[in-house]
Amino acid sequence: MRLLTGAAKCSAYNREDVLAAVKSAIESAGGFPPLAGKKVLLKPNLLSDTGADKAVSTHPEVIYAVGKLILEAGGILQIADSPGAGILYTPRNIRRVYKKCGIADVARELGVTLSDDTGFQERPFPDGKLMKHFTIINQACEADVIISVCKLKTHIFTYFSGAVKNTFGVVPGLDKPVFHSRFPDPADFSGMLIDLNELMKPAFVVMDAVEGMEGNGPMGGNPRKAGYILASSSVYALDVTAQRLISMDPAQIYTTKAAVSRGLLNIEEVETAGDDIIPVKDYAMPSTYHAPAKNSWFRKKVLLKFQAAGMLYAPAPVVIKKACVACGQCVQICPVHAVVLKNNKASFDHGKCIRCYCCHEMCQYHAIRMKRNAAGSFLHMFLR
Ligand code: SF4
Ligand code: SF4
Repeated sequence: MRLLTGAAKCSAYNREDVLAAVKSAIESAGGFPPLAGKKVLLKPNLLSDTGADKAVSTHPEVIYAVGKLILEAGGILQIADSPGAGILYTPRNIRRVYKKCGIADVARELGVTLSDDTGFQERPFPDGKLMKHFTIINQACEADVIISVCKLKTHIFTYFSGAVKNTFGVVPGLDKPVFHSRFPDPADFSGMLIDLNELMKPAFVVMDAVEGMEGNGPMGGNPRKAGYILASSSVYALDVTAQRLISMDPAQIYTTKAAVSRGLLNIEEVETAGDDIIPVKDYAMPSTYHAPAKNSWFRKKVLLKFQAAGMLYAPAPVVIKKACVACGQCVQICPVHAVVLKNNKASFDHGKCIRCYCCHEMCQYHAIRMKRNAAGSFLHMFLR
């Protein structure tokens, strides 16, 4: 079945251009579903309380444009997210994140009151392959329609963060790292994300790919211009288009592989309408990523066997002492208690560490870097 992503070029975050590009991408993707009179949750990616220039969260101008079009389509607009990055899901924290990410200002312009309800509910999902129920924030449970407005980012654990990963924000606060402890393998974690997407079924997704994040995202990478707004009624199709945009092979990305294995996606059938996609050739990948292995016997039979040993190969978090301010956030978020504060610096127990990279994701001081041991460096050299 043909799956469509709408694409529109957009080179800067000025209101007029973003609005025109968002409108064009949505139209190219076939338009919003009927929204008149429906409660519509606009679900941005608000990972942490960082400013729009850092490319960590969906840019407020993109949120403004999508919000305006939802209102014009007659939807009853609500904007909400539960941030990640070890932020407790409390009214005070939510208000701070909305303010710092520029959401409070655009909500005011749109005439929308931001809710600081931090309640959540249990939602059964008997059809789930890995999860039979999820805990979900109230705003997502109460919406008739969810429109996801995600950000293009690389991800040190799942390689890529886009539409499928954005849905994880409907899980409240510190419930998120618990999933890392339960699903330490990124393939299983991605399978869990597919269950969550099939439960919540975002009806439409718009991606802010004007300026994405490259390198060790979703928080510790660098802003990188990609120059597009993308839109689709399929979270899976949109991610494939975005992966092609940054020259990632969709068949290597855990979330996309998981969607394919469930029969929800055929990568070859994803088509783009609107502006042509011109891939960014040198978009920096996360340090955990390796391109598909070439077909040599040595690579296939030897190196990939070693790679399957996982922990041997995967880089481990280490502290950058001069940057660490001993805030303790990494200690709080680590699902397996592999971090402690020692002499006022974070200290890692690599024997316990499951390489989920939550600590790296949430350290706002960029005080955690990834380090491979000699065996890992050797394998990485041959596999990349
Ligand atoms: S490594 Fe980062 S998150 Fe951990 S204590 Fe140091 S500054 Fe805080
Ligand atoms: S130390 Fe960091 S990477 Fe290792 S398990 Fe804890 S949070 Fe995950």
